[in-house]
Amino acid sequence: MRGVMKVGRGVGLVELREIPDPTPGPGQVLIRVSAAAICGTDLHIYHDEHPYWPPLVLGHEFAGTIAAMGEEVKEYVLGDRVVSETSTGSCGVCSLCQSGNRHICADKRALGIGRDGAFAPYVLLPAALLHRIPNGLTVQEAALCEPTAIAVHAVVERARVQPGESVVILGPGPIGLLCLQVARASGARPIVVSGTAASGAIRLPAARALGADVVVNIAEDNLVDQVMAVTDGLGADVVIEASGAPAAIALLPRLVRRLGRICQVGVVGRPTVDFPWDLALFKGAEVQFSFSSRHTSWLTALRLLAARQVLAKPLLTVEVPLERWHEAFEAQDRGRAVKALLIPADSG
Ligand SMILES: [Zn+2]
Ligand SMILES: [Zn+2]
Repeated sequence: MRGVMKVGRGVGLVELREIPDPTPGPGQVLIRVSAAAICGTDLHIYHDEHPYWPPLVLGHEFAGTIAAMGEEVKEYVLGDRVVSETSTGSCGVCSLCQSGNRHICADKRALGIGRDGAFAPYVLLPAALLHRIPNGLTVQEAALCEPTAIAVHAVVERARVQPGESVVILGPGPIGLLCLQVARASGARPIVVSGTAASGAIRLPAARALGADVVVNIAEDNLVDQVMAVTDGLGADVVIEASGAPAAIALLPRLVRRLGRICQVGVVGRPTVDFPWDLALFKGAEVQFSFSSRHTSWLTALRLLAARQVLAKPLLTVEVPLERWHEAFEAQDRGRAVKALLIPADSG
């Protein structure tokens, strides 16, 4: 089969390459990929701004059907529609793994980052990481379960957003738009979403359509003023940073209320960044980092998607065959797509 691979270390170095068809060992499942979504992480790896272990097939956001199973797999049957957590390589025995936090195990080599991923006709995974796709969800929608789990982990499990709380989300990319929907499902209000001029055509209008109470194009409006206007001059209860832009990070302590929470989700792609430290200190702000997603995040994400409290379809704006992966990377990199999907030629 041919997969979209990062073939070495450096900028670019992504190409379609022939690799042997994988066969499942004990406890493993071979999944025929129906749809795989491009993630900001794939773009960061393309640009050499994120850890990765080449050569490997990229892609960790996908849905598919079970094509073959190794020994000891009892919980599934051939043809089951599944999605998968991405914590491949986790040891299973350290205290993090044992406490339900395998996503942050030191041995983890995530799918599509440290293990062959889903930008290929088939992907091999441990059955223990899989979840069945609820009836009523298409495979395209289910391909966004992973970023939905990221949003659940940030908004619900880390930032602990409560009903009636004001939330600001910086960055209207896929993660920002999913955080918006999870915050709404949690009863937050008002919700402010901000973006740059580049997001003015597609992503900010999508934020409005998906229920943001206030949408701010920072090229036209002052974000701090807008947030103060809807929070009685106090600042937001919760600020979620989903852009990874240093300019957005520098604004965080000015947007949050005293004793409010700041939750960083976006990857910056550089080793250090400016942050108004004392302002955050004097406000007594709680500063959090939300990385990856837990098993529990996936359970909640699947329920929210099945209940249509989170809509994936409005985010799926570009769909191309796997062979034309380059178009999809470019569309998403330039913000022309909210989310671009790759479809392998022989997907069912
Ligand atoms: Zn992702
Ligand atoms: Zn572990």
